[in-house]
Amino acid sequence: MRIDRTPIGIVSLALTLAACTPPDPAATRDAQPAETVTAAPAEQAAPGTATSGVLALVGGRTLDGFGGPPLENSVILIEDGRITAVGTEDNTEVPASATRISTDGMTVMPGLIDMHVHMMLLGHGDYRRWDELYADRMNELVMPIAADQLLWSGVTSARDLGANPDEILEVRRQIEAGEIPGPRLFVSGPFLQVAPYEDYEAPYRWGITSELQARQTVQQLARRGIDTIKLIDQDQMDEGVVAAIVETAHAEGLPVVAHGHRMEEIRVGLRHGVDNFEHTGLGTAPGYPEDVLELLRERNSSLYWTPTVSPLLTMQYTGEIFPERLDDPRWRQGMPDALADEIRSSLARITQLPYYALFPSRIPKLATKFAQLRDTGVTLMIGTDSGIPTMFHNDSTWREMALWVELGVPAMQVIQAATLWPARFLRAEGDIGVLAEGRYADIIAVRGDPLADMRVLENIDMVFKGGARVR
Ligand SMILES: [Zn+2]
Repeated sequence: MRIDRTPIGIVSLALTLAACTPPDPAATRDAQPAETVTAAPAEQAAPGTATSGVLALVGGRTLDGFGGPPLENSVILIEDGRITAVGTEDNTEVPASATRISTDGMTVMPGLIDMHVHMMLLGHGDYRRWDELYADRMNELVMPIAADQLLWSGVTSARDLGANPDEILEVRRQIEAGEIPGPRLFVSGPFLQVAPYEDYEAPYRWGITSELQARQTVQQLARRGIDTIKLIDQDQMDEGVVAAIVETAHAEGLPVVAHGHRMEEIRVGLRHGVDNFEHTGLGTAPGYPEDVLELLRERNSSLYWTPTVSPLLTMQYTGEIFPERLDDPRWRQGMPDALADEIRSSLARITQLPYYALFPSRIPKLATKFAQLRDTGVTLMIGTDSGIPTMFHNDSTWREMALWVELGVPAMQVIQAATLWPARFLRAEGDIGVLAEGRYADIIAVRGDPLADMRVLENIDMVFKGGARVR
């Protein structure tokens, strides 16, 4: 979706850091999806039904995304896909003709926004083999599964940061046209970098080596409707090329998202005005050095960061602590058996996969780096790298959110990092990210209290996108 580009708002966080603990290995999973239907015997809107007239979500506790106190016994009215009122049973009348859905016992929240997904991947352990088997079936097979899984898990908007633009723009079109279920998509298309690492990656990793090529490429992507530019390995690029990419993107109204793995990569990105960094680093430095932290503090009113801390720990959890996770049928949702079996066998020996060797040096640094980033005051957003090995699209976003709570972020702020702040970065705050009059009715409802236990989001009870119930 294209949204008008206006200057990014200022968000500053005054967060404090608490002690960090690793994820709870006791977080086991049920074999069956949670029961979803409750109450309202007469006019219950079942999943998959389009509702005409007014839809009313009545009774639950609402967190509207603005961060204020929860609304108890809340009422949300929806018409023509948008929210028309948010209030309580005391002050908001439900029209007699409305279709009522009880949310008693549930927390009602804005649909989640995952700021870093890869829809061309479904959790397979071997990128090259995945490409050999499925590169030519992205639109007919792979991406629709990713889209469906994300939406099912409450992700009503997602940012895809690396794909063949033909394929990702097509899946975005299919979703917008209502041809397949999926989140509202914001997409980067290709990674812009010095050169693809492997030949087979050329359709989605574009080598950029001159300023002219940089300008033409960014202009071409902008014309095609790309929402953001994805830049990586900018420390290995000629700085004139980096400047040309960022300047052209900004002139076209597109933000630039860049990898922040290496310190020099961050420094170069900051020098040229990157808007949003991703990850906390493949490097094994004990933490961010003071010069980088000082630069981040200076930019903290406009700079966003998507730290994607959960994948390493999810891979380790799956490899060493609870391999049974791979036998849970739920991640196979929507997959033909042959595809799911291929993914399952690719993960049979996770601890022997080449990238696993990085874990012992990286995992102990995660909490420190996350704390340093928070302390600079940059705005942190939830993103998961969903799709990379062991990160299944219907099981990624809640894990990142639960981990942030364990890393000391207050639960309400974690929820805002998956709703309001991404909406603001995406310049879509008038449409998504909060529950308020005029916004799309992108809403999730979950039994229990995510403010007390974020892991309840593993089993969301209801998902609405644009007022249509999809779960
Ligand atoms: Zn990624």
